[in-house]
Amino acid sequence: MAGPAFDQREGYIWYNGEYVDWKDAKLHVLSHGLHYGSTVFEGVRAYGGEIFKLKEHTDRLFRSAETLGMKVPYTKEELIEQQKDILKKEGLTDAYLRPVIWRGSELMGISAQANRINVAIAAWDWPSYFKPEDRLKGLRLTVAEWCRPDPRTIPCHAKAAGLYMICTLSKHKAENDGFNDAMMLDFEGNIAEATGANIFFTKDGALHTPVPDCFLDGITRQTVVDLARRRGIEVIERKIRPEEMADFDECFLTGTAVEVTPVASIDKYSFKPGAITTQLMDDYTNEAHPHALAAE
Ligand code: PMP
Repeated sequence: MAGPAFDQREGYIWYNGEYVDWKDAKLHVLSHGLHYGSTVFEGVRAYGGEIFKLKEHTDRLFRSAETLGMKVPYTKEELIEQQKDILKKEGLTDAYLRPVIWRGSELMGISAQANRINVAIAAWDWPSYFKPEDRLKGLRLTVAEWCRPDPRTIPCHAKAAGLYMICTLSKHKAENDGFNDAMMLDFEGNIAEATGANIFFTKDGALHTPVPDCFLDGITRQTVVDLARRRGIEVIERKIRPEEMADFDECFLTGTAVEVTPVASIDKYSFKPGAITTQLMDDYTNEAHPHALAAE
């Protein structure tokens, strides 16, 4: 998405209790969140002025902060209202919201017990580019060299900045090799997820998706599982070996940013976006932004 650099935009960012000019929403280079990864965040979307799954995202933000031992200096209700407020203030209807919480710069070192817990929320225009025919072409993925680590080694259910180091490495390598994204295996060699989205496959009319026991159980993933079950589609959550990809028919990714996006191939394995994927793309659109289909 082209446009001015993210530190050069117009508007306001809510920062520790007040709106500051977008270009002045800065932090010190000696911030703990930058050096030691004590940062958690959310990616939230609004459609037609309504923030989708706002409570679920805010709950996860607080759970992530708590997992990293950070006490958020606001209540959930306050941050929910604040997210609604920033949309209004910025005049946004179809938007992406990025709440972020990080330890500040009072002390520099591993231990940062007394460091300030900073909270900011930025929001920017992000229309839903709803062109099913383009999206149905599907993404091309490659299997990443990095794998999702053992859940005993990282707080794998937190949406924490540090967990994205291997995602950026994997995505850069995939892009440099001509792919759209990478699919990561877990530490035991099972299929895990993409670098910023969960993954589903279909076989004989049923959905198969990895058990989220060492990666994020995405809010979109949960929504899609629910939508599929409402349609009477069987959803099987299990360990999936990479060789099984030879037997799957369809494949798609789910996430706040990608919504439901078909996958055309993962290395030598090809998939054909079909009835289940298109059904769930439509159902998700209806759920998240019911006015979009009507407006077409
Ligand atoms: N996995 C990772 C690594 C992600 O960054 C995301 C996006 N937040 C997801 C899965 C999907 O999560 P959600 O559906 O809650 O956006």
